[in-house]
Amino acid sequence: DMDCLFCKIVSGDIPATIIKKTELITAFNDITPQAPTHVLIIPNKHFENIGEVSIADSKLTSELFKAAADIASEYGLESYRLNINTGAGAGQSVFHAHLHLLAGRAFAWPPG
Ligand code: 5GP
Ligand code: ZN
Repeated sequence: DMDCLFCKIVSGDIPATIIKKTELITAFNDITPQAPTHVLIIPNKHFENIGEVSIADSKLTSELFKAAADIASEYGLESYRLNINTGAGAGQSVFHAHLHLLAGRAFAWPPG
């Protein structure tokens, strides 16, 4: 999907600070970090949201979560928050599935 911002990050047409890249997933720093660590983890293939990924491809779904756990481990994070906004009403603004890995500050619960 060449109108998609995150597809362009996967292809390298838009630069990003890449943290990890495999055949299936890419992780990169969020351009507007909401915490000292704010990494986005996305499938290389375009899916609109995490629900679509989950329905279509269990291996890809688990690879996204494994990448989050691996990055948390590599960064030595004791606590972190995984956030997945699904649908505009829940705050999704880029319609290419992504996990937010947030860490390095206290987080409120319930979420805003
Ligand atoms: P959402 O609001 O869809 O859950 O999250 C989209 C995220 O993408 C936001 O946190 C936003 O800061 C990030 N973002 C938007 N445009 C860019 C960009 O061009 N580069 C990077 N690295 N992140 C972006
Ligand atoms: Zn895309």
